[in-house]
Amino acid sequence: MTEIIKIPCIAGDGIGDDIWSASREIFEEALIKGTAGQKKIKWIPLLAGLKALEKEDKLLPDKTLETVKEYKIAIKGPLTTPVGGGFRSVNVHLRQIFDLYTCVRPVRYFKGLPSPLKTPEKVDVIILRENTEDIYKGIEWKEGTEESKMILDFLKNKMNVSLSSDTGIGIKPISKTGTVRFTKWAIDYAIKNKRRSITVVHKGNIMKYTEGAFREWAYEVAKEYPKAISFEESDEKILFNDRIADNMFMQMILRPDEYDILLCPNLNGDYLSDACAALIGGLGVAPGANIGDNVAIFEPTHGSAPKYAGKDMVNPTSLILSGALMFRYMGFDAVATLIEKAVEETIQNGLVTYDLARQMVDVKPVSSSRFGREVAERL
Ligand code: NAP
Repeated sequence: MTEIIKIPCIAGDGIGDDIWSASREIFEEALIKGTAGQKKIKWIPLLAGLKALEKEDKLLPDKTLETVKEYKIAIKGPLTTPVGGGFRSVNVHLRQIFDLYTCVRPVRYFKGLPSPLKTPEKVDVIILRENTEDIYKGIEWKEGTEESKMILDFLKNKMNVSLSSDTGIGIKPISKTGTVRFTKWAIDYAIKNKRRSITVVHKGNIMKYTEGAFREWAYEVAKEYPKAISFEESDEKILFNDRIADNMFMQMILRPDEYDILLCPNLNGDYLSDACAALIGGLGVAPGANIGDNVAIFEPTHGSAPKYAGKDMVNPTSLILSGALMFRYMGFDAVATLIEKAVEETIQNGLVTYDLARQMVDVKPVSSSRFGREVAERL
């Protein structure tokens, strides 16, 4: 008998509908094929972001939160966050509500992708980004407000730190608790997935008690795994080292093959994800997962790219590959592999959307929907 697997889904804002409609059937077909007809998806569509605001006057309706909590899993497209005023990021909020403290972003080259590198096949890293702390906590006060004045007075009177009266203030919290659980997760992940090395990416030379402490605490955790971790090159153990963030960006371009798992505080991980994606074709092919102890939400690395919304032209690969990550997380490895191989084959056949086509010679782009159909046919 066929078992029905229920999965909550949020199409998202901007290009959300374009990439969701190009991906949905791939997920449905792949689950049937990869389980020899034993499992079938039933989607539970949910609202969030601008669509939820329009229909329910709320960015994150209770029903959405309750359903994700109940099923412990969801796949979502991007949600728009205006810069400056207005609401804080719904994405960040979702990660904080469900305590999705690890963001997993694999960046792997596969044949057929365009790249600015001469040897892009050397790129195969997993960016692990701490997802709940750092400046993303959203603790900040606008210049000129009562609150910022209070902080400025406090700094001046109690800490002997004088800042210009027109200063905006932001706070960057990084805790030992948060860093320890994140590092443990990363080491367990590296062991389970037989990865080669873990590099802590920090700016600890400047931000000593936040990013510097992140580095120290990560090493302390690593020392608790003497059987699995080595601090020097070793054939049997996972190498644990660190790089200062600015150097890391250069290293990824010049010597990507020397890196495997990058363990990043929130902001470094955010920046590095887009930069690494650029090495293998761009944001259109960069998948992601936000994972906590109870819930996991899978989503592309990119945002809602509003200028392309409804044009049926953006690359749905990032969402398609996020679906593969979801199936792997659910224990359906064969389904994930089917999807990844079909995407790879489609791209190798020169069937690519505008973002990849413009980096290639004499390649005419296909639409999002056509790309989705071509992948589905190759499953
Ligand atoms: P973005 O939506 O990621 O888009 C930046 C650029 O990346 C696009 O203009 C496009 O480049 C390229 N791109 C993104 N997705 C693509 C796709 N599927 N296929 C091909 N190219 C793609 O970043 P943004 O414009 O800075 O942000 C827009 C909104 O998204 C903001 O409100 C932001 O807060 C939100 N956001 C949401 C999430 C999330 O939901 N997790 C993440 C990041 C940002 P070209 O213009 O060069 O073609």
